[in-house]
Amino acid sequence: AFDVLVVGGGPAGAAAAIYAARKGIRTGVAAERFGGQVLDTMAIENFISVPYTEGPKLAAALEQHVTEYEADIMNLQRAVKLIPASDQGGEHEVEFESGARLKSKTLILSTGARWREMNVPGEAEYRNKGVAYCPHCDGPLFKGKRVAVIGGGNSGVEAAIDLAGIVGHVTLIEFMDEMRADAVLQKKLRSLPNVEIILGARTTEVNGDGTRVNGLTYEERASGEIKRLELEGIFVQIGLVPNTEWLTDSPIELSQRGEIVIDEHGMTSVPGIFAAGDVTTVPYKQIVIAMGEGSKAALGAFDYLIRH
Ligand code: FAD
Repeated sequence: AFDVLVVGGGPAGAAAAIYAARKGIRTGVAAERFGGQVLDTMAIENFISVPYTEGPKLAAALEQHVTEYEADIMNLQRAVKLIPASDQGGEHEVEFESGARLKSKTLILSTGARWREMNVPGEAEYRNKGVAYCPHCDGPLFKGKRVAVIGGGNSGVEAAIDLAGIVGHVTLIEFMDEMRADAVLQKKLRSLPNVEIILGARTTEVNGDGTRVNGLTYEERASGEIKRLELEGIFVQIGLVPNTEWLTDSPIELSQRGEIVIDEHGMTSVPGIFAAGDVTTVPYKQIVIAMGEGSKAALGAFDYLIRH
């Protein structure tokens, strides 16, 4: 059994494992895919103190750093069930798809999130080649260029406002006949000179020249007419889904969006079970934030252990 078992091996999980292992306590990390979303990322320019790196390189460095310590890394392990301790200070149990079961006095859940995709032709092909999901991350790569933002909810409209200050032109495309974003955001968006809003439009294809995105095709839903925009980038903002499906039968409190609710020490609603990173309610999903949150949850778990 472990003192700390981290479930998830992205930036949050790696940071949690390092902080826990450095306390000299029995630490394990079980992850479906060590590295997490970072593995799907190309250029990273906002990992503070490292002006430029690439996802696979950072993911390898994360794993390398964890292996410097006596933490058990269990890769390719997908958690399917959480069985909380029956009494306070008892052991929690996690069941994996492989049938394996692991016990630990504390848990740190850091299973991250995934961007909802449009699932149209060209989207996967041009991912990181013009198709982007994170304006804070990739906005500056499109300086002076033409981009589209897909989605008129709060995140889409915020992204469009943010991008309008960096890129040349932004077209916001919303499926419904109106945007769902807060009125104050919509007003701000409409006040910007380099933004066009297209409502009632269904994106049907991401176009490219074989190397990079060069356009987007959409259907005007009312008329059924097919139209094409010439542009260099597409930011898909139709939702970030937390990886908490495996927790819905557990007593862990989730927000309406399915994110794990945590307190200022990173503890969930179940004593001894902590969470960190994109899977939680903490706003702004970023690598440095996930690492900070993972470190905090490990220190929270250590504090809990010395009291129980
Ligand atoms: P994740 O990275 O999502 O890691 C989750 C971990 O949990 C993975 O190991 C996963 O396999 C595992 N897992 C999931 N479900 C289970 C399960 N049931 N059982 C076991 N393990 C499970 N951020 C930046 O700061 N800068 C950038 O430039 C940047 N660019 C990005 C580009 C792209 C294309 C994407 C998708 C994201 C980008 N981000 C960027 C966001 C950043 O990657 C995330 O904020 C960060 O990775 C979150 O870390 P995390 O550890 O919370 O979760």
